[in-house]
Amino acid sequence: MDIAKQLRAVGLDPASFERGDLLVRSPIDGTATARLETHDASAVDKTIARAHQAFLAWRSVPAPRRGELVRLFGEELRAHKDQLAALVTIEAGKIVAEARGEVQEMIDICDFACGLSRQLYGLTIASERPGHRMGETWHPLGVVGVISAFNFPVAVWAWNAALAFVCGDSVVWKPSEKTPLTALACQSLFRRACARFAESGAAAPEGLCEILLGDAKVGERLADDPRVPLLSATGSTRMGRAVAPRVAARFGRSLLELGGNNAMIVTPSADLDLAVRAILFSAVGTAGQRCTTLRRLIAHESVRNDLLARLERAYSQLSSKIGDPRQGSTLIGPLIDGASFEAMQGSLARARSEGGEVAFGERVSVSGCEEGFYARPAIVRMTKQTDVVRHETFAPILYAMSYGDMNEAIAMHNDVPQGLSSCIFTNDLREAERFLSVEGSDCGIANVNIGPSGAEIGGAFGGEKETGGGRESGSDAWRNYMRRATNTVNYGKDLPLAQGIVFG
Ligand code: NAD
Repeated sequence: MDIAKQLRAVGLDPASFERGDLLVRSPIDGTATARLETHDASAVDKTIARAHQAFLAWRSVPAPRRGELVRLFGEELRAHKDQLAALVTIEAGKIVAEARGEVQEMIDICDFACGLSRQLYGLTIASERPGHRMGETWHPLGVVGVISAFNFPVAVWAWNAALAFVCGDSVVWKPSEKTPLTALACQSLFRRACARFAESGAAAPEGLCEILLGDAKVGERLADDPRVPLLSATGSTRMGRAVAPRVAARFGRSLLELGGNNAMIVTPSADLDLAVRAILFSAVGTAGQRCTTLRRLIAHESVRNDLLARLERAYSQLSSKIGDPRQGSTLIGPLIDGASFEAMQGSLARARSEGGEVAFGERVSVSGCEEGFYARPAIVRMTKQTDVVRHETFAPILYAMSYGDMNEAIAMHNDVPQGLSSCIFTNDLREAERFLSVEGSDCGIANVNIGPSGAEIGGAFGGEKETGGGRESGSDAWRNYMRRATNTVNYGKDLPLAQGIVFG
């Protein structure tokens, strides 16, 4: 596995990854790619202290100057897109096109954040008192902790970090223990951007962009630290359940991006060709390991059989597309590890016991990658939405149900604990608008005639219920990374009280 070349290209020395307690393996073929030293309690403490000092300096740098650093970082990403994407492929098992897409997402959020650095607007508010002015000011917040999952090893951090940097914050990132090299690669490219920033006479303080390596224990230390006013945590609902009370116990803020269980409703008027294409990308892309992966298909009984026949035909032709993600012809790479494959098989067995009819889903042997866990995406025909369907299994399983009327479809759609992404395929304006209305989808993302996955950075990303309620990336998500001060200024010579109160 030619990882050394990619590491050198992003400024890392492969020789420094030969010792340590964290052994990293590539999901492609199980090859050991690195050994790294994880952070113990004292190293975590020092790292957060450095980041806090960096914040104290960075918060006073004018926001448009901060935006310039993020712009330079975007340039580094553009220049090293292929090398960083190659590392994403090696560590997370993503196919080349998706890995490049992930780096493109980082570039996009840098562009967005750079523009935003001149638009961190507050408000002017009408005061009820004469000679008074009210307003709102947004200030930098502090050290932003970022915990990220293996499946978007670089983009999720960038969504958080690019905004946090322009907002005047420093960032301490605990990447997934399965993908630490991509994180170190990002940090190395960020340092290059800082060096170029310094050439322009400005200085990015040391400690602005820190990394903590390790597992849940290290994440817990980050969650517990009172010097971290915001913890942005992306991963399973199980992780969110562990982290959120810890942050709340010290009155910190958390921004949670947790599991999804995303559905598509296909109505009688839907364009089935379009629906099949959208289902394929969103159900089998990234081997079913996207938080927005399509996991539930809710098709009207008049189109269900036709749709499933087309899908099963398409799925039966996927075998030749499953393989080494480094090959250009591959569409479906490996699952992250053996535990993930076991979880998939466990859910398929449970689906059978709950009345499901399973097609495909078996392990696929890939020549030269025998130690990797490759699986044929599964379709499971269910007669109703049972417990296994309500649970997120992070693997390519598509449960197919049918409905009779729209009330039933929407009720089934919303009857899961998660609330991330959703979509409807219809050519009926009333159905589309109802799905988007307050009585429709209860998710953070609701689409019409496109699948649930593959969001653009311009919109706010996140979901409701067990997905955690956080919003990242575009729209006004930047406000998460700042604190708001309400200001009242009296420019008169009198001191009138609010609510007309007369005192004394
Ligand atoms: P995971 O929950 O196992 O791990 C995610 C991160 O949390 C890792 O860095 C891990 O070390 C850390 N962690 C785990 N337990 C922790 C604890 N108790 N305290 C502190 N940190 C802890 O998730 P994963 O397997 O890496 O990723 C898959 C999951 O992430 C899926 O559920 C997927 O839906 C979700 N996800 C959600 C989004 C989103 O934006 N909503 C995006 C990507 C992935």
